[in-house]
Amino acid sequence: MKARQGSTTPNADNRTAKEVELRHDRNTASRLRISDDARLPTRYGKFQVRAYEDRATGAQHLGMIKGVLGGDDPVLVRVHSECLTGDVLGSQRCDCGAQLDAALRQIAEAGRGILLYLRQEGRGIGLFNKIRAYALQDGGLDTVQANEHLGFPADLRDYAVAGQMLADLQASKLRLLTNNPNKMSQLRKHGLKIVERVPLLVHLTPDNGPYLRTKRDKLGHMLRSEPGSTPQGS
Ligand SMILES: [Zn+2]
Repeated sequence: MKARQGSTTPNADNRTAKEVELRHDRNTASRLRISDDARLPTRYGKFQVRAYEDRATGAQHLGMIKGVLGGDDPVLVRVHSECLTGDVLGSQRCDCGAQLDAALRQIAEAGRGILLYLRQEGRGIGLFNKIRAYALQDGGLDTVQANEHLGFPADLRDYAVAGQMLADLQASKLRLLTNNPNKMSQLRKHGLKIVERVPLLVHLTPDNGPYLRTKRDKLGHMLRSEPGSTPQGS
């Protein structure tokens, strides 16, 4: 496995965990604790993983790294928010599992890229409230109405931590895998330069169709290659 260009290789010497942690503290001056890297062979190919802990919330996130980072070339990035039911259990109520699968495949094919796995379940409202919202949807509300019925905004996700993780991973210019324009503007607010939006192609099914259409109509998501999906610089 090649060392990451211009980056840390904490396993390569005999520094103690404490020394590594202190160095990371200095490097990021941030709210993040950062682990050493470990190998993660997957069905998509070989990745490195680096764990992050948000000192402010205790949430633990993951960076999956493919290839050599650093340098000036834009890097293919997916910022994926956890969805236990979709990512792990194969739920067809949403497209999260399909998006995760497509993103890992596209990054593996590119040979270089990052997937951030952020532990903000249910667009930030948590697993318990997500299931409560599903129950409301079973009663006829759409995904946005259900969240609002429970007293939450339509989307509580926070991308500040993603900005810090990507800074740590030396990814400043992104080719972002997303169908969500709000995510692009959120990441831009945290200083990241998105040079291209790379669509994730996810199939409509009878089960996820209403959910995906609500995301398109109420949250501004783009489905497939709709107008507005052209590359944007900023
Ligand atoms: Zn989901």
